[in-house]
Amino acid sequence: MDYYSKQISKLIEELSSLPGIGSKSAQRLAFHLLNLPQERVEQFAGTILEAKRNVRYCKTCFTLTDDEECPICKNPARNRKMIMVVENTRDLAAYEKTGQFEGVYHVLHGAISPMLGIGPNDIKLKELMVRLAGDVDEVIVATNSSLEGETTAMYISKLIKPTGIKVTRIASGVPVGGDLEYIDEVTLLRALEGRVEL
Ligand code: ZN
Repeated sequence: MDYYSKQISKLIEELSSLPGIGSKSAQRLAFHLLNLPQERVEQFAGTILEAKRNVRYCKTCFTLTDDEECPICKNPARNRKMIMVVENTRDLAAYEKTGQFEGVYHVLHGAISPMLGIGPNDIKLKELMVRLAGDVDEVIVATNSSLEGETTAMYISKLIKPTGIKVTRIASGVPVGGDLEYIDEVTLLRALEGRVEL
């Protein structure tokens, strides 16, 4: 990209390192940013920095939040006896969007993948087991239907079974290999309603 100056090239390079941004989009974004008023760019950069600085794990469910506890865990109307286990914060958001789940969540931040060398200790599983020492009726495993998601679901079910807590798995209908966040709300609701005991 030597037809652009060094700093423009660097900006384009940084932008194209973002997920889903190809080199054409990166160029478009770079020139868009450069054409914005100075204070808009400063505000934008400040928002990124501030989010990075303040966003952390919720102390209860481990979703990303900027408070000690996330708004869902803080909400007294949520049913704490029902915990839905998801792989990441985006999956949590997908279920929240349906507006039909009144329980709480547990975010694993990943899934077990022997191929990638990700084991049970690399995701927030121990933290889930700690929560289950409290008063819990049901754990709904809503990991993705990928190989990793299924492996994780089976592992969780084996781990929880001895405690006597009911473990359910969201119904298929969520396409195999499907990423939860791209699935429409109706399908998600159907998967939740049709969950089966593991
Ligand atoms: Zn939380």
